[in-house]
Amino acid sequence: MLSTPSKLRSLHDFSFAELEAQLVSDGLSATHAHTLWRSLHGHADAFQTMPTNFLGPLARWMEKHLYSEHADYFLDVPEIVTETRSSDGLTRKYLLRLRDGNTIETVLMGYEGRFTVCVSTQVGCAMGCVFCATGQMGFTRHLRSGEILGQVLHVQRVLRQDFGKSLRNIVLMGMGEPLHNYDAVMKALTVVADVRGPSLSWQRITISTVGLVPAIRRMADEGCPYSLALSLHGATDEQRRALIPVGRKWPMDELIEACRYYNRKLGKCIFIEWTLIAGTNDSPEIAHQLAKLLEGMDVHINLIPLNPTAGYAGSASAHSAGLEFQRILRAAGFPVTFRQRRGIDVAAGCGQLKAQAS
Ligand code: SAH
Ligand code: SF4
Repeated sequence: MLSTPSKLRSLHDFSFAELEAQLVSDGLSATHAHTLWRSLHGHADAFQTMPTNFLGPLARWMEKHLYSEHADYFLDVPEIVTETRSSDGLTRKYLLRLRDGNTIETVLMGYEGRFTVCVSTQVGCAMGCVFCATGQMGFTRHLRSGEILGQVLHVQRVLRQDFGKSLRNIVLMGMGEPLHNYDAVMKALTVVADVRGPSLSWQRITISTVGLVPAIRRMADEGCPYSLALSLHGATDEQRRALIPVGRKWPMDELIEACRYYNRKLGKCIFIEWTLIAGTNDSPEIAHQLAKLLEGMDVHINLIPLNPTAGYAGSASAHSAGLEFQRILRAAGFPVTFRQRRGIDVAAGCGQLKAQAS
């Protein structure tokens, strides 16, 4: 395992303002900061050795601070441990090794010419949802913003090289609970949406949360521009707590009130994610309870048939039960769609990520 001396810092952890301030204090100019920033977020893989297109003071700065024996900085270019391709050819799951030896998973999904990346935000997860492989492995640590960003840069590289395409959507639905790692996530997303960097539209970035009430309110108060998805899975406290231990911390009425606040404050819809588990949360009665719970809210409901994981015995709902669940919610006036299942044969589907080399 490689350990990183604490004084070393990732250049991918810098915001633009921080990078500019650092270079200026080292005697360089704002123009140098722009040049370095564009390269860091464009072709960081070309940085394994000193790139030849850097000249003068910036080249000397990089020799000293990035490439010398006494370097101050490093780059978040994750090492690919394995790449697994699904049989439909549309999904690629990457097991990526971080500098400290921990591994995470990142999934690239193609949908008829447009590409989405599913990004991890933590090594493991502390929330312990019983049906989720990441929850079953427990929490190791938060990812730094550079490590979150590094996954996006990695798939952009793959898309450029193998498909001649660019990335369209980002979903924070990989390993971990994004709102448990709020600051690093928001910092990484600011860079991802930076027009001088990866330049992804903020409208195409979705944060999925298990429902951390203070963080949902914080997103509303800060005018957070990204889309929000809430993993609900239960229509009462009792139903929810059986699946999501953290549900004990924030009762359903507080959670729904925070979502209504978000709706009102930002005028934005919330995506409700509902994993359909046979005999557990897929009955017509529960569909009616859910319709009542969400009454008057601006939501779009996504139904996800349960994906199998080793640590949970439940199974996906029958197709007919899912359709009936959908019908009841639609009749109550909600937009309801089924999530397209992707990458199940390579354990890259929702909730199947647990960072093991296969
Ligand atoms: N921690 C965040 C984001 C990562 S999980 C969250 O919970 O929202 C991404 C989505 O996968 C969540 O909606 C989660 O409920 C769902 N999920 C987890 N395990 C699953 C499984 N085995 N089958 C289907 N969906 C699952
Ligand atoms: Fe964590 Fe989300 Fe999995 Fe729950 S579903 S354990 S919050 S990653």
